[in-house]
Amino acid sequence: MKGCDCCGEPAIARVREPNRHFCATHFTGFFEDRVGRTIRDDNMIKPGDRIALALSGGKDSRALILVLSHLLPVWENVHLVAITIDEGIEGYRDETVRAARELTAILGIEHHTVSFEDLFGNNLDTLLVGREREACTVCGIIRKKALTVAAEQYSATKIATGHNLDDEAQSVLMNTLRGDLPRFVRDAAQENPYFIPRIKPLSLTPEKEIAIYLMVNNAWNVLPECPYTRFALRAEVRGMLTKLEYRYPGTMLHLIETKKKIGRYCAGAQVSEPIRRCRECGDPCSADLCQVCQLRHSLGR
Ligand code: SF4
Ligand code: ZN
Repeated sequence: MKGCDCCGEPAIARVREPNRHFCATHFTGFFEDRVGRTIRDDNMIKPGDRIALALSGGKDSRALILVLSHLLPVWENVHLVAITIDEGIEGYRDETVRAARELTAILGIEHHTVSFEDLFGNNLDTLLVGREREACTVCGIIRKKALTVAAEQYSATKIATGHNLDDEAQSVLMNTLRGDLPRFVRDAAQENPYFIPRIKPLSLTPEKEIAIYLMVNNAWNVLPECPYTRFALRAEVRGMLTKLEYRYPGTMLHLIETKKKIGRYCAGAQVSEPIRRCRECGDPCSADLCQVCQLRHSLGR
């Protein structure tokens, strides 16, 4: 058995970028150091911030709340509040909401749940009858709005999400496949005065390492998968990228670097419509109607 590169004890994990072997203690240190560096390098957190953490209860957000609860005492006067959005997906969301509640109780972190039903008058399952193939688009639009409403309600200055390296690389490829340059650049851009800034402290952390981190910190939990995943383009892109990363290590990081470079080259360029106010609800958006109001119309509400 290989020994840990730091202490020689039996290794429990091998990471590929850089190629190292670690015992449980040194893996945790390596993992948390990289997240801390990601936060500092992009100035994600400032003293006095109130961070609304999007806690779905799934593995990424569990790892994020765990690592931030360890790292945040270093930052001065930073407060963390966890927000769980309950879309209302039968056989899936109830268990993850319960897992989120249990974890925040153990960590002693303030936790609130906001449901699609509260905000939109119906749960996702009902809204999607007959249009299941659009599940992730509809879900994404309402979830983003729900998170913003909750973050404003709890006076958050930042919204933290658990997107990992795999998710970010998939998004770069998906935006490319859709020819969506405005979104590509908007995602790469820094702060926008109209929106609460979103931060992604796990954006350089591979999904596999998140699973190891949860296991060695006794926070691993097997939870059901969303039944609508099968309709998502993301599922196909994920399979493709996982194979490429295995054969050509570093592929995902290269995609992130590409996004950052394009963001830098396009800095200040007008690639999408200027921000204005939605004609119906007054939210900032780039069209006559915001995405939520467009959705309300298309759902006949
Ligand atoms: Fe929503 Fe799609 Fe994620 Fe399910 S897989 S929670 S429908 S975005
Ligand atoms: Zn609107």
